[in-house]
Amino acid sequence: MKVLCIGRNYREHISELHHSVPSEPVFFMKPDTSLLKRNRPFFLPDYGPIHYEVELVLHICKVGKNIRKQFASTYFDAVGIGLDFTARDIQNKCKENGLPWLISKGFDNAAPLGRFIEKFNIRDIQDIRFHLEKNGITVQKASSSEMIFSFEDIISFISGYITLKTGDLIFTGTPSGVGPVKIGDRLEAFIEGEKLLECSVK
Ligand code: MG
Repeated sequence: MKVLCIGRNYREHISELHHSVPSEPVFFMKPDTSLLKRNRPFFLPDYGPIHYEVELVLHICKVGKNIRKQFASTYFDAVGIGLDFTARDIQNKCKENGLPWLISKGFDNAAPLGRFIEKFNIRDIQDIRFHLEKNGITVQKASSSEMIFSFEDIISFISGYITLKTGDLIFTGTPSGVGPVKIGDRLEAFIEGEKLLECSVK
């Protein structure tokens, strides 16, 4: 399986990182070794600072290539929540030098992944409300309605280049409010008020 991630999909987050709004989805990958499951703790590496980015995650349920937008929603069966941990200084250095930023996003345990909600149990796919709490305080809060590129846009675009397979995951971009973590922090991520992910930083 593979982990695909969308960058720059929420306007306020684009502003906070001083980027411009893309005309088509920006995407990258994390290796499967970046997944951190079952609420295991995250051990802070020494190449920080590491920033949290909470994101809705799609679970792909069938193989597809060149998927048309009108059929794209049939290619995922569940929506979950995850963190796209980012070594921000390393990422900035990569970007300044025009280099790929994989190292800043694909390190071990850079993708804590929570539980999923089956698609048919979601009230409104176009308006999934989610938020992240750090030490009990809400730091990121958004709805899927605020995405620049919808789930369908993303699936259709990516599958034009890369075949999607059952079990693949797509992180769909982060809203504003990203920031660094430090040892002792507790991150908790929610969809529609239900806690689906917990991650302690050690
Ligand atoms: Mg991200």
